[in-house]
Amino acid sequence: MPAPKILPPGSTIGILGGGQLGRMTALAAARLGYRCVVYAPDLESVAGQVCNGHVQGAYDDLDQLARFAGQVDVITYEFENVPEATVKACEALKPVRPGVKPIHFAQHRIREKDFLRQAGIGTADYQPIRSEADIEVASSLPGILKTCTEGYDGKGQARVATRDGIKAAWEKFGRRDCILEALVDFECEVSAIVARSLDGTTRCFPIGRNEHRAGILRTTHVPSGLSHSVLKKAEAFGVTLAESLDLVGLVALEMFVTRDGNVLANEMAPRPHNSGHWTMDACATSQFEQLVRAICGLPLGSVEVMAPSRMENLIGDEVDDWSKYLADPKARLHLYGKSSTRPGRKMGHVNFIDG
Ligand code: AMP
Repeated sequence: MPAPKILPPGSTIGILGGGQLGRMTALAAARLGYRCVVYAPDLESVAGQVCNGHVQGAYDDLDQLARFAGQVDVITYEFENVPEATVKACEALKPVRPGVKPIHFAQHRIREKDFLRQAGIGTADYQPIRSEADIEVASSLPGILKTCTEGYDGKGQARVATRDGIKAAWEKFGRRDCILEALVDFECEVSAIVARSLDGTTRCFPIGRNEHRAGILRTTHVPSGLSHSVLKKAEAFGVTLAESLDLVGLVALEMFVTRDGNVLANEMAPRPHNSGHWTMDACATSQFEQLVRAICGLPLGSVEVMAPSRMENLIGDEVDDWSKYLADPKARLHLYGKSSTRPGRKMGHVNFIDG
């Protein structure tokens, strides 16, 4: 088999999606001498602001996708809800890394949980809720009912304690396919972000400890302060996931640490992850640079922690405090260039170095 082709600096990376993850990927790519072109449905995007090109098109516009693919050497995606058909259309034209397999599983919560279990990765008990008959035999209670598709940042989720509660939440979600997950009484939440290169080498960033509020990530701490055995389990699950997906690129796995020291996977994202933003200022290689290295066939970078850090998201009008962070010598401010602020919208983040 011929050795996979290395894409040297000067090559062009195509990014499906125009959000802040694409923006920060493009900034890291530029530092290594790569060019980026973004594909997004909007005329302008925050990734497009910092890219060499921006192709506007719907995700099912095959002509526009072909124009986009013609301008790039490799394609990645910055969110996992890109339609599978879009990724397949791109794959026929250029390498897409990670490919269609990771999004096939990441886009649907039941497929995702089944895949994790089959890979030997522990999860909370769960069961599909697709009909009234499913509700009658539901036993993962108390639990969280989640829509199988299109839920993120706590959207499309309801805590339920009884079968009547499941029924009411399922009706509220328009009787869409759902998953009922047993409520985990966790001590904390963590995430593993693993890169896998073209030659199959894997590297896991140090595990971050995450705090969520109202379903949205607020803070990530590194080091996490967790025991060696918990960290090893979390890292092993992340690496197993990257290998089971045959992925070239990055995958993040969010997990719960239970009070008895067990680790249970919650969800995966085959892309840079909000809980990895600390790497931009406190790690030898940022998650965005690691993604660029992986998809271009370069050796993966060191994941050594350079300093303890705490990442705080700036959500909604919290971004108005930007001048306060500029005045703090321990704070590194990252703003995403979004023109309007909305409650719950991620506008930027701050990395506090030295905790
Ligand atoms: P998700 O959209 O699945 O990442 O869920 C958002 C947040 O809701 C998680 O980060 C947890 O804080 C909480 N959560 C989700 N699923 C569960 C569960 N099965 N047990 C306890 N908390 C959960």
